[in-house]
Amino acid sequence: MSVTTPIETDQLYIGGRWVQPHSTERLEVHSPATGELVGSVPAADATDVNAAVGAARAAFESGVWRNTPPTERAAVIRRAADLINERSAEICALVSAEMGATPGDVATLQQLAGTGCLAAYADATDAYPWEEKRTGLFGETLVVREPVGVVGAIIAWNVPLFLLCNKFGPALSAGCSVVLKPAPETPINANLLAELFTEAGVPEGVISVVPGGVETGQALVEHPEVDKITFTGSTAAGRIIAARCGETLKRCSLELGGKSAAIVLDDVDIAAAAPMLVFSGILNSGQACVAQTRVLVPRSRHDEIVQAMVDVAATFTPGMPADPETKIGPLINDKQHAKVTGYIERGKADGATAVLEVQAPEIGTENWVGPTIFTGVTNDMAIAREEIFGPVISVIAYDDVDEAVAIANDSDYGLAGSVWTSDVPRGVELAKQVRTGTMGINWYAIDPSSPFGGYKGSGIGRENGREGLESYLEHKSILMPMGYSSDS
Ligand code: NAD
Repeated sequence: MSVTTPIETDQLYIGGRWVQPHSTERLEVHSPATGELVGSVPAADATDVNAAVGAARAAFESGVWRNTPPTERAAVIRRAADLINERSAEICALVSAEMGATPGDVATLQQLAGTGCLAAYADATDAYPWEEKRTGLFGETLVVREPVGVVGAIIAWNVPLFLLCNKFGPALSAGCSVVLKPAPETPINANLLAELFTEAGVPEGVISVVPGGVETGQALVEHPEVDKITFTGSTAAGRIIAARCGETLKRCSLELGGKSAAIVLDDVDIAAAAPMLVFSGILNSGQACVAQTRVLVPRSRHDEIVQAMVDVAATFTPGMPADPETKIGPLINDKQHAKVTGYIERGKADGATAVLEVQAPEIGTENWVGPTIFTGVTNDMAIAREEIFGPVISVIAYDDVDEAVAIANDSDYGLAGSVWTSDVPRGVELAKQVRTGTMGINWYAIDPSSPFGGYKGSGIGRENGREGLESYLEHKSILMPMGYSSDS
C-alpha cells in the first residue's frame, strides 16, 4: 500500500474532535524520497494550543479519564494497540511516505516497537500499586499515586509512530490528559493515530494534536495550564525547554540525543556479530537516537573486524523506500543531508579514513547518504563526539578493555551502548561500567518493559514499563491519625 493522493486536512484534532483552526497557516509534508506532496495539515498557533490545553484541563478536572479505574484505562490502551496493528499496512505506508524509511523498517522499528510499548504500559498499569499502605514512624500512612495532570508532549520526526505511542501510552495509562505536538516533518500520521485512540475509548477532551514547529512547541511549554512537558528531540532544544519548565516548575522529562559506543571485545565471533553491529549503527538511515555510531575495536583484531563490517554495510543498498530491495531510505530532508555530508567531509579533513562510502543512488531527491565507515578515528574528532544522525560509523581502536570503557564514557551523551563478546557474563560486567541508560549484549534493542532513557546530555527521566508510567504520576502520602488502623 502506498500514499498516492495527497492527504489534505482542514481541521485540527482537538479534544478528540475535528475543529476549525484559528490559525490560517498550513504545514506541507513532502516525501523525502520523491519530493512529492504527501499532504498538508493546519499549523496550530498559540490560540489553537490554548484550545487544546483548555479541553485537556476540562477533561482532567471532570475526572472522566483519571477516575476511570486503571484496569479499564489499560484495556483502552490495549485496544488502541490492536487498532494500530490492524491498520498496520496503511499506517506504515503513511509514516514511510512522511519520513522516508522503508515500510518494513517502519513496521519493525516503529509499529511493533510502539504497540509493544503500549502493551507493556497496559501491563504495568494493571500491576501498579495505585494505593499502598505503609507503616512508618507515626503509624499508618496511605500512599496514593495520582496522574500529574495535563501533559504537553513534543516529539521528533525520526520514529514518529513509536514516539507517539511512547507519549500517549504512559500519559493515558496514568490518567492524564495529553496534548501532542508532532514534528512539523511528520504531522499527518499523528492525526490518524490520535483518532484510533479515541476509537479505542479515550473520552472526549483527553487527547489533542497540535501540529506545528518551534513556536507551537513553545506555546505548549509556556502554557500555565500544562503540568508536565515530555520532550523527545535534540539536546539543544531539550536544554531550552528544561530551562523554560524550570521557571514555572513544570515537571519535565527529556529524551535527547546520543553518541553510543559498541564495545567489541577480543573474543567476539565477528561473523555472527557483524550484521547486528552494522545494523545498530545505521538503522533508520542512521537517524536513531540509540545508534551505535562509535565502534570500539581491539587493535589486535582491528582489520578483520573492519573488513567484516564493510562487507555487511556494503549490502545496505540505498533506494526508494517502497522498493523491496531497498535497505536504506533517504534522510529526512536536504538540511539533514547537508549536515551529514558535512560531517563526512569533516571526518576526512580531521584525518580519518572512509574505508566505505556507498554512493547515493541517482533517483528522486538528493537526500540519500550511503553507509559510510571511518577508521583511524580518535575520540576527540567531531565525528566521534557529535551526533551526526546519518549512516556514518566511526571505528576507534583500543589497546585494553579499561581504555575501551574510558573511551565509551568520554562522551557528552549516555543513551545506549553494547558489548560484543563470546563471554556474556564478561559483557555484563563491562556493561555496568558504562555510564549510559541502556546496554545490549551482542545486539541492541529497546525493551518496552524496562526503563529507557539517558545519562548526561541524553536526557532526564525514564520511559517504558513501570518507571515510564511513574514519570506521569505524583505520589501523595495521607497520614492516618496516630493509633488508627484500617484493618480494625
Ligand atoms: P528538535 O529538537 O529540533 O525537534 C524536536 C521537536 O521539538 C520538534 O517537534 C520541534 O518542533 C520541537 N521543538 C524544537 N525546539 C523547540 C523549543 N524551543 N520549544 C518547543 N518545541 C521545540 O529535534 P529533531 O531534529 O526533530 O530530532 C532529532 C533529535 O531527536 C536527535 O537529537 C535524536 O537523537 C533525538 N531523539 C531522541 C530520542 C530519545 O528517545 N532519546 C528519540 C528520537 C529522537
